[in-house]
Amino acid sequence: MKKKIVILGAGESGVGSAILALQKGYEVFVSDFGSISTKYETMLKDYHISYEQNQHSEDIILSADVIMKSPGISNSADIIKKIRNKGIKIVSEIEFAYPYCDGKIIGITGSNGKTTTTNLIYHIFKSASHNVGMAGNIGISFAYMIATDPKDYYILEISSFQLDDIDEFKCDIAILLNITPDHLDRYNYEMKNYVASKFKIAKNLTATDAFIYCADDEETMKYMDTHSSEILARKFAFSLQKEPEEGAYSKENKLFINILQTTFSMLSNELTIKGKHNQYNSLAAGLAARHEEIRDEVLREAFMTFKSIPHRLESVLTIQGVEYINDSKATNINSVWYALESMEKDVIWIAGGVDKGNDYEVLMSLVKKRVKALVCLGEDNLKLQSAFSGVIDVIISTDNMRDAVRSASQLAEKGDAVLLSPCCASFDLFQNYEDRGDQFKENVRLL
Ligand code: ADP
Repeated sequence: MKKKIVILGAGESGVGSAILALQKGYEVFVSDFGSISTKYETMLKDYHISYEQNQHSEDIILSADVIMKSPGISNSADIIKKIRNKGIKIVSEIEFAYPYCDGKIIGITGSNGKTTTTNLIYHIFKSASHNVGMAGNIGISFAYMIATDPKDYYILEISSFQLDDIDEFKCDIAILLNITPDHLDRYNYEMKNYVASKFKIAKNLTATDAFIYCADDEETMKYMDTHSSEILARKFAFSLQKEPEEGAYSKENKLFINILQTTFSMLSNELTIKGKHNQYNSLAAGLAARHEEIRDEVLREAFMTFKSIPHRLESVLTIQGVEYINDSKATNINSVWYALESMEKDVIWIAGGVDKGNDYEVLMSLVKKRVKALVCLGEDNLKLQSAFSGVIDVIISTDNMRDAVRSASQLAEKGDAVLLSPCCASFDLFQNYEDRGDQFKENVRLL
């Protein structure tokens, strides 16, 4: 008899899992409580996979041998409770796909920098002519890639939601970039739950695997102090403050990657991506690359040709000596801190949106140093205004991108930068952060 799998959620990871499950001989049923997008419905039809939308048929779901739950579905959803009550095994997409993966996995997690680092590692491995794919939280799902286009290396961006349900999944190289408060609502507002969830990336590592972590990150180091011996992998740290014996660091404007008895070095200013945060991302990526013995010349060339990705400190245009920078992806305090830290010009700062419980205090000294004016952009700007009144001389309030960009351009003088780095989620005025960044770019081009 065929094993029955029910897949809850028909998004990228759900449909990817359905296709992989079909290929591996499962009887597959996909159930989505919402409506399924045309793209994914077409894929399900093309593969002749049974599905339903706008409902969950409990009789079918509760007769499954195993359930694949998409990351967007909350553990407190009614159907999940019923499944658990019946004792049916629930797996996540990466967990389900993992046994079918023959390639090596480099997994990247952390509060900030995942997408940048994932793209950078992919670029490096591509430059070294490896058969490599980029999947996970970005773009194509891991399951779909395994089913349709298997690789020797999978560079996986992994969110903490995806880590929550892992059991056997493991990486060959696991990278934990940093841990700062974000999405705490999902973890009962307990930082230790969030930290433990991030460290799940290291849970199943064996002695031949590698664990790459940031020695300057307070939460990471707190956890390492007490749990380091539980992580069986070889450990490699990266730092901008210390010189780890085996690991990566920066000294006197040079990066050093010291791993497996070899040292790679290059000038920090030869990196195409700027700012301290990108030095961290590059050190982490460099460690992964050298661990896999990518040659020095290839690595150097890849660092020098990597193009920054949209919405992350993306330089859009310079108009009358004013540079416009789109950092729409900066939705929390930590990423804005790094954005302001990397600014060498005076800044007209556009910020605002849906505040996820920000404490603006940590930004104050950088704001005093760099920010000339604040253009608030949100449905409700009161919190932002009151946080910075008395700190920034000029604060104005707007509620659409056109006004925000125009106001910023009027406030800016030659040599300044206009920086959209919102510190907040976007869904009060925009569909998502991409929409917010695109509208910023569009309005800059219209100036
Ligand atoms: P993620 O995928 O984890 O959200 P991104 O690479 O998309 O990370 O970057 C999100 C935001 O964080 C951007 O504003 C970016 O400039 C900033 N950022 C990138 N890397 C780091 C880092 N290592 N530490 C802090 N902020 C970072």
